[in-house]
Order: sequence, then structure tokens, then C-alpha cells
Amino acid sequence: MSADTTRRVEVYPDREAVVEFDPNLTFECVDDCTWCCHHGVLLYDRDLLELAQRANLAETTTDFRGEKFVTREAKDREEHVADDGSACAFLREDGLCSLHLEEDWKPARCSVFPLGVWLEDGDLHVDIRESAHDHCDGLNVSERRVIDNLEAFLPELLWELQNPDSEREL
Ligand code: SF4
Ligand code: SF4
Repeated sequence: MSADTTRRVEVYPDREAVVEFDPNLTFECVDDCTWCCHHGVLLYDRDLLELAQRANLAETTTDFRGEKFVTREAKDREEHVADDGSACAFLREDGLCSLHLEEDWKPARCSVFPLGVWLEDGDLHVDIRESAHDHCDGLNVSERRVIDNLEAFLPELLWELQNPDSEREL
């Protein structure tokens, strides 16, 4: 997107994001989709500390290229799994997240999807992930404009990270 169509939005006091997607884009997660939970999600350091209080890290996390991810595991079911039959260790048979449901918490990356974030010249930039355009059922199916609800997608910790880049996947 060209520079004249990007805009700066204050998400928290003194925390701005450079928005690079159509401001009219709307989003509402579609219950039965679960596509973004078929992957192993990246854990930022603070996520790891939080997760350690809620789950056995040895069983639910894995290392990949020097970073921690939630483990994908083979599921004994046909729904809410990727083509290879696996999904996030916390994705239940009913398509709900056990962490979110039972602990009222989930990793930061799970809130960010379907957005992508990265640092550029000291600013946090935000767009829609390429994979979301292809797979996320929640884009433009509601009246809820993403740009008006950025705090729901972007936890404040993103502004404190040296590398928040969300392109890293398991
Ligand atoms: S932790 Fe929960 S919300 Fe995040 S990918 Fe796994 S099942 Fe989905
Ligand atoms: S891919 Fe989009 S609609 Fe599907 S579960 Fe994830 S956020 Fe919701």
C-alpha cells in the first residue's frame, strides 16, 4: 500500500500503529472456522511465562529456529484440524480454545490474527496477513471495522518487543 494511504492510529496512550490496510475492512471471527488454530503459534517471551502458569510447557511447546511455539499435535477427529490431521495442542474437539475458555487467556499471536505486524523505522506496522486473505472466514462479514478496534488485536506488549514480526510460523 502506498505511503499516502497508510495512517497512524493511537491504539494506547503514546502507542501508535501504522495501519496499512483498507480502513473499511471489517472482521468478526467465525466460530466454525478455526483455521488459524491449525498451526503452531509463536510465543513471545512474556507469553511463555504466562503459559508456564497454565500448562505443562514440556508437553505443549516446541522449539523451532531458536523460538518457542505452541505444539501442533495429531488429533483423533476429522473436524477442526489441518489437512494433516493436526492442530494447536489447545484446540478442542468442539473448535474452542481450552486456554481461552478455561484460563481466560491466550497467547498474543492468537489475538493478532488475522493481522500481521512488523517493526519498520521504529514504528509498529499493521496489515492483513496474506494467508488470512486466502483462509480467514471472518474478513468483511460484519459491521465491526478493524481500525476502530485495534486494541482487541494488538496487545500492548507488541510495542515492547525487539522483533514482533508475526510472519514466523511453525
Ligand atoms: S492457543 Fe488457542 S487461540 Fe491460540 S492457536 Fe491454539 S487453540 Fe487457537
Ligand atoms: S481464520 Fe479468521 S475466522 Fe477463522 S478462526 Fe481464525 S480469526 Fe477466526
